[in-house]
Amino acid sequence: MNAKVESTALNRPVTRQTFDEVLVPTYAPAAMVPVRGAGLDLWDQNGKHYLDFTSGIAVAALGHCNPIVVEALTRQANTLWHLGNGYTNEPVLRLALALTEATFADRAFFCNSGAEANEAALKLARKHAHSKFGAHKSRIISCYQSFHGRTLFTVSVGGQSKYTEGFEPLPPSIDHITYNDIESARAAIGDDVCAVIVEPLQGEGGVVPGDKAFLQELRDLCNKTGALLIFDEVQSGMGRTGELFHYMSYGITPDILTSAKALGNGFPVAAMLTTHELAATLSVGSHGTTYGGNPMAATVALTVLETINQPAFLARVKEAGAKLRATLEKVVADYPQVFSQVRGAGLLLGVVTSDAWKGRSKDIQKAAEANGMMVLIAGMDVVRMAPALIVSDEQIAEADRILRVSLDGLLQAA
Ligand SMILES: *Cc1c(COP(=O)(O)O)cnc(C)c1O
Repeated sequence: MNAKVESTALNRPVTRQTFDEVLVPTYAPAAMVPVRGAGLDLWDQNGKHYLDFTSGIAVAALGHCNPIVVEALTRQANTLWHLGNGYTNEPVLRLALALTEATFADRAFFCNSGAEANEAALKLARKHAHSKFGAHKSRIISCYQSFHGRTLFTVSVGGQSKYTEGFEPLPPSIDHITYNDIESARAAIGDDVCAVIVEPLQGEGGVVPGDKAFLQELRDLCNKTGALLIFDEVQSGMGRTGELFHYMSYGITPDILTSAKALGNGFPVAAMLTTHELAATLSVGSHGTTYGGNPMAATVALTVLETINQPAFLARVKEAGAKLRATLEKVVADYPQVFSQVRGAGLLLGVVTSDAWKGRSKDIQKAAEANGMMVLIAGMDVVRMAPALIVSDEQIAEADRILRVSLDGLLQAA
């Protein structure tokens, strides 16, 4: 029974080339294939080491293979995996208690991805308006350059047309406003609006922080019109900016908050958080998903939440964020021909390319990778850094060194 099976399927040799042969070509992954990670360290198939300043797009906030999370997951894997929604489970009940105690929310709905959490939030808003005000109140307002996921609904709500082209017809009654433009918000948000969805810090759209006055205006307009304010904190949440959720640093409270990415540190799990009153909209049978909040996902998320939501942990994120920002600002000052500014919050920072280097963020990303560091981009004009929240001062210094070596190389080649 317990004899180890010599699995050929699990040990079969594969390369980056295999991707091009058997994967649907939705991505163009890097040439190297990471095989092992620990903290912010990654190694590829050739044993080459990388300093990971991506954390899997702001996901592995506690680092790769964090022992605390590995222990919790392993324990749960030996206890109970899955039940289905005909039964609840202890881990999901504990996770819901912890998330509602830690936030404005009273209720949680669990699913598996950021897109699904936003889908649930938007469906809730539609149904709430439908039953409280009537079918005419159906319009959804979102921002240009926003990103809310890749289902047909969330990609239509997202503000980047390159992601919807060719997928028409799109769901109707969705309009976009300019991020941080109060006049644009005032003109668009009328009585027929059921929901306003916004990232308090735009991630994919270029690491653009929301202005407090803009977010406050959205809150006021929603109060006035009876629309629900949805904060998409899939990327900005779970300690990334030094607060558990970024709304806390503004003191502006949404009606619905969505979380995913770092919530599971890489295990797929997402949450939609809301109030008692609004949660009642999604009555028995109105919405659901097979895996949402299964014992494995809930155990991991609870472990991550408990680790991150400690004053000392969050204070260190703020400190590390300030150190990384100061480091990058010095890089910008020393390489004015390449970069123009640093923006973002906490440990989600974007370095914006200068006019002369417009469209070249990917070149910088590739040079850093060749020199042993992984960074993200956010569009063609922004190099994005989102290291694990446990990043050390030494790792920030090492990132500084590799980034400068990479820039020197690029400038020499030019
Ligand atoms: C990544 C992201 C999503 C989508 O999450 P998935 O898990 O990929 O569906 C939604 N909103 C924001 C702000 C994101 O950064």
